[in-house]
Amino acid sequence: MADIYKTYTKEFGIDEEVCRFCEEILSGLAGTFVEADRVAEVCQLKVLAAFKRAKISDAHFAGTTGYGYDDIGRDALEAVYADIFRTEDALVRPQIVSGTHAINLALSGNLRPGDELLSPAGALYDTMDQIIGIRDCPGSLKEYGISYRQVNLLPDNSFDYDGIRNAINEKTKLVTIQRSRGYSSRPSFTIEKIEELIGFIRGIKPEVIIMVDNCYGEFAQMREPTEVGADMVVGSLIKNPGGSIAPCGGYIAGKKSCVENAAYRLTSPGLGKETGATLYSMKSFLQGLFMAPTVVSSALKGAIFAAACYERLGYKTFPKSDEKRTDIIQAVEMKTPEALLKFCEGIQAASPVDSFVTPVADDMPGYEDKVVMAAGAFIQGASIELSADGPLREPYNVYFQGGITWPHVKIGIMNTLQTLKEAGLVKIPL
Ligand SMILES: *Cc1c(COP(=O)(O)O)cnc(C)c1O
Repeated sequence: MADIYKTYTKEFGIDEEVCRFCEEILSGLAGTFVEADRVAEVCQLKVLAAFKRAKISDAHFAGTTGYGYDDIGRDALEAVYADIFRTEDALVRPQIVSGTHAINLALSGNLRPGDELLSPAGALYDTMDQIIGIRDCPGSLKEYGISYRQVNLLPDNSFDYDGIRNAINEKTKLVTIQRSRGYSSRPSFTIEKIEELIGFIRGIKPEVIIMVDNCYGEFAQMREPTEVGADMVVGSLIKNPGGSIAPCGGYIAGKKSCVENAAYRLTSPGLGKETGATLYSMKSFLQGLFMAPTVVSSALKGAIFAAACYERLGYKTFPKSDEKRTDIIQAVEMKTPEALLKFCEGIQAASPVDSFVTPVADDMPGYEDKVVMAAGAFIQGASIELSADGPLREPYNVYFQGGITWPHVKIGIMNTLQTLKEAGLVKIPL
């Protein structure tokens, strides 16, 4: 052990005190890590079986140009996604620029003037405000005469079932449930919780379209939202399902009609899924998907380790290290802007790309507060890679996620501790 500590000090300036502390934390996590490996194994089975059923072969990697008619790689990739998410169809495209874009396609493709969108579980991710028109923006759903209703969580973060029953009306066309916490401190919703909520909503209005924003959740549990009654799941390929290999993109998997409506928005009415060249991206989409379960489990282990370290130092963490996980996000309440910035500095300095830059807080399109982001990633902005960010607002939560390999995440967390220690902001207990 002492030799490894010396290597940490020599290569990274991480001192023996931090090493010993982290080793002790790690020794308490063996059982939790076995569980994370088990989830990865089940998800790998699902992914591999889907590849086999779709008879993926070298020919699927070629890609198309121009209109992208008869793109067998794209069709096979979408069949694999539909299989993994147990849905009728899927839309998986490099032309979907982000998770926000995928959600916008799913919403604007499936809602019509006069319809109402319902969030039954509180405020949504920051970038949804302008899509919905909570903050005015040209092209918002509001401009097209689509209204929005929101039922907040109860003070103990449970679902307000009475409120939801009252909010559902004849106009309610689509219900959106956000699995991950986003930049809020409410808990992420486990598949079991989502199942319960969907069951309740179906009991009131069976035909309503239920969509789950699955960002950061894919492969974090053995089942996906579409296996517990959701009509549609939506997410980003520079998060979990891209496995850190997909260079860009987003996906929508769900009922045939839901996916078709979204595709008519992405390309054009009449064209739908039949067009859209994939250029040279197919191999990375497929290979990334294949690797996603183990990449996600590395990120999960990192999140658990980070929570355990910071809990021992007296910080509040969401979720706690021993809580059941449904996504790769780990929030730590850093309490001061200095500590939030130092944490991000520590992550940035432990990145394989751009390790020499210092993150600063700045304005970001779609976000209301200044945001600090640490991301030294192979794919720009990919948060399945080791990254940390947080809006500069109280209580200065840092949202930490990703990591392609577990040893890398561990080094990153150790470096945040070293950075905070050197700034005099934490004291490592002996
Ligand atoms: C990341 C994320 C999104 C979409 O963000 P993009 O940066 O546009 O990909 C939406 N919802 C949640 C919960 C997210 O975590």
